[in-house]
This record gives sequence, C-alpha cells and structure tokens, in this order.
Amino acid sequence: MQDLKKELTVQARTLGLTVYQSSVDEAEGTVCAIVRSPEGKRLAVLGREAARFAGESRDALLLCPLTVDNARELMLLFPYTKPQSHRGRPFSFGLGDRLGLATPGHVRAISGFDVFPVFAQQSIRELKLTGRSFSDVIAAAAFGVFQEGYRGGYGADGDHLKTEEEITYALESGCSMITLDCSEHIDTQASSLSAEAAAAAYACLPEEVRGHYEEAYLGKTLPILGTLSEAELHRIVLTFWRAIRHAINCCRHIEKTTSTPVDFELSIDETLTVTTPEEHYVIASELAAEGIRPDSVAPHFSGTFEKGVEYAGDLDRFARDFEVHREIAEYFGYKLSLHSGSDKLSVFSTVGRATGGRVHVKTAGTNWLEALAVLAEKDPALYRRAHRFAIEHRPEAERYYHVSTDVGEIPNIDLQCDAYLPEYLRMPAARQTMHIAYGLLLAQPWFREAFFRLLDRYEEDYYARLRVHIAKHLRYLTGGMKQ
Ligand code: ZN
Repeated sequence: MQDLKKELTVQARTLGLTVYQSSVDEAEGTVCAIVRSPEGKRLAVLGREAARFAGESRDALLLCPLTVDNARELMLLFPYTKPQSHRGRPFSFGLGDRLGLATPGHVRAISGFDVFPVFAQQSIRELKLTGRSFSDVIAAAAFGVFQEGYRGGYGADGDHLKTEEEITYALESGCSMITLDCSEHIDTQASSLSAEAAAAAYACLPEEVRGHYEEAYLGKTLPILGTLSEAELHRIVLTFWRAIRHAINCCRHIEKTTSTPVDFELSIDETLTVTTPEEHYVIASELAAEGIRPDSVAPHFSGTFEKGVEYAGDLDRFARDFEVHREIAEYFGYKLSLHSGSDKLSVFSTVGRATGGRVHVKTAGTNWLEALAVLAEKDPALYRRAHRFAIEHRPEAERYYHVSTDVGEIPNIDLQCDAYLPEYLRMPAARQTMHIAYGLLLAQPWFREAFFRLLDRYEEDYYARLRVHIAKHLRYLTGGMKQ
C-alpha cells in the first residue's frame, strides 16, 4: 500500500499539484489526499474505489471538488472523518466554524489537550446568515479533519434547534449532537408576577399538570435544594412546564429518528432571566422521571456573555452560582455546558476548576474574528471597507445579537495607517461590531469572494492564528499555563 500512496504523490507532483502530506491515507485499496491545484483544493483519489467519487480524471488521478457528496464517500471510506458522539469524554469543546475553513487550525489548537472537539457546530440562525446547510458544515469539517490527518474523532452539533423538523434535518445531515433550545416554550412573564398573580395563573393550568408537580416537589426534602416553597413551585411550573414537555417530546423524537448514539444537550441559556438552581433542578428531575438523561445542560448563568468580548459581571457570584449548578448536573449525571464561550477567558479558570474538566464549552464567532485579523494584515483596503460597512450596518446586525458596546468609541479608521488596523480587533467596540456583522458581510459579493480567496491563499496564517487563540481558551479551561 505504501506504493499506492507513493504513486499518488508522484502523479500529483507530475501534474504540478501540491500534496497536503498529512492527508494522504489509504483504505480499501484506495488512496486519497488533499491537493492544491490552480483551481483550488481538490481531493485526489487513486485506486479501486475511485469510481465512488465524482471528479475529473487527470492521468491516473481523479481530482474531486470538495463537495457534500464527495465528503459523504470520504466519511464511508475513512470513518474518522465522520462526526461521532462524545459520550464518555469528560471535556468537550464546540468550535463553530462559520466560514468552513477553520478546522485545520482547530485541529492544531487542540493538539496536546485531552479534549473532544465539536468541529462542526451551527445554529439554524447561523446557517441562514451564512447561506449554508448542515451538510455543508459537516463536509467542511470532514475535509479539514482529513487534511490534517486527525484521527481523534470529532462531533457535529445542530445548535439551538427549536423544533422536531429542525432536529430531523440535523440528524439526517449527520449531526452527532443535538442542542435543543426550548426558549420559545418558556413563559418569560411568570417570573415577574406577584405571588398572588402567579397563584392565580397557576390555578388555571390543567389539573393533571398541577397535581403532578405538587406530588413530586411539595413537602419533600429534595437533594441539594432542601425544600421548595409553594410560591417557588408555582413560578417554576408556570415558566417551564411547556418547555419541559417540549424537551421530552423532542427526546422521544430523536430516539425514533436514529439508532446511532446522539449527544443531547438542553439549552435554557437564551432566556431573559438567570436560571435559578430550583429551576434547573426541577427541569432535570422532570427529564429524569421520564428516563431521559441529557449529556449536557446549558443554564443561563449570571453575568453577561456578549459576543466577542470578555465576561461582564461579578466573578465571585458567577463562581458561587456555577458551583450549585454543577452539583445539580453531577447529581443527575450530565455535564454543564457554557455557551458564548468565545473570549470569556476570565470565567474559564473558574469553570475548569469547579468542574474538574467535566464540561462542555461552546465558542463560535471568535474564529471569524481571527479570519478578519488575517484580512486586516494582508488586505488593508478590503478590511477598511468591511469595517466601515460593519459600523454602518450595526443596527441591522443588532437584530440578531444583543450587544452593548458603543460604536462611537471606535476611532475613525480613515485617520489610521494600515499597520494599525489589526489593533481594531482588540478593541471591544470594534471587535463586537465586526463580530456580529458576519452574516451581512458574507452576503456582500464584493466582500465574500475576495475574502475567501484571501483566506485560501493565506491559510497557514489563518491556522497559525487559530492555534494560538483557541489554545489559549483551552489552557484557561484546563488550568494550564496562563498567557
Ligand atoms: Zn446558546
């Protein structure tokens, strides 16, 4: 087989193609490798199973575009390129890649850490804003994993899914993790009602719902919490009973849809209020009563987790709250999950220490910012145009993301020299403005085409930046050296 691998490399070189050496691999009498041709990256295939791939013959080689269909064949031939469940792995880390270019950099970033990476992770909102499908996202991760020759396994997270239809779509596309977002079934008004108003609203709930909750929680000594007052229970039931029912239905739906293991996360982080331990306990306990054990739960933690900037809030309070949630998670046998983890280095040491490394953390947009840093460095004129565009269109971007930095604080870019541009991505206001503009920018043909061309050309610069930036997140989480 060594001969077949060698043959592919020789053939590719004869054709003037550059071979990504770490990608060259063989299975079933077939060798595949990522190569660079003048038209862009291709999957070069040689051997018995080559006919399974769709591409163009160049001498003995088949040169295949990096499409969803070719990714599917790749995953069949080399199962390590296929997303898989991370059940049993204590520390997992989500790395949403909105451009579909970051995986090789992410592979390098996790090297040396005992972490299960979720290289593919997108919400429906992100798919819409970037014009991609779950299959596109997974194919990009699969080719990235293959390019680097990474064999450690990775996951694909259908993030913040809200309906059974979205779950089906994610599972059929190959997602190995489902994050259910119940926010549309949570009654956000209930927590602000007076005790009387809450009692009155509670009395209107179906009798069997009330009976069930009262029987389970009133007059009982509950682990971790002690007792729950009637008023507290009323508020929790009013707020969450529909969301809990929805979560149970969705779990049953996952069980019916697939027989392969799927990591199930319940997210209640995108709610208006901070999740109390009592709420967390009741939700977990209701799922447990149905025989459902999530793999992770994402409560809404105290403080503010805004896109692209550091945590804002009382770190001591965060640590105390986090500890109670951790106890509840441990009692019910799952991991806590922390979303919007990009750039929240100040909370990571607490999270790492409190959980002993048994945790799921999600990051997403931070790799987009690293891509913009490459842009600022390599094509200042295009960066300037993107920067002005993002500032101008920030009100539009704010429809999707809640941010609080002040655009007025961003120094006028026209007065700065090119060498200064990367500095903008270190300023909270500019960083956040660029962060949330990704969907609008990627929809502009003048930006999109030139940007992707640039990142393709400077891919090594991009990977190097990702490696440093993401490894820093992991060091904080694992209690490693601080930078
Ligand atoms: Zn979230």
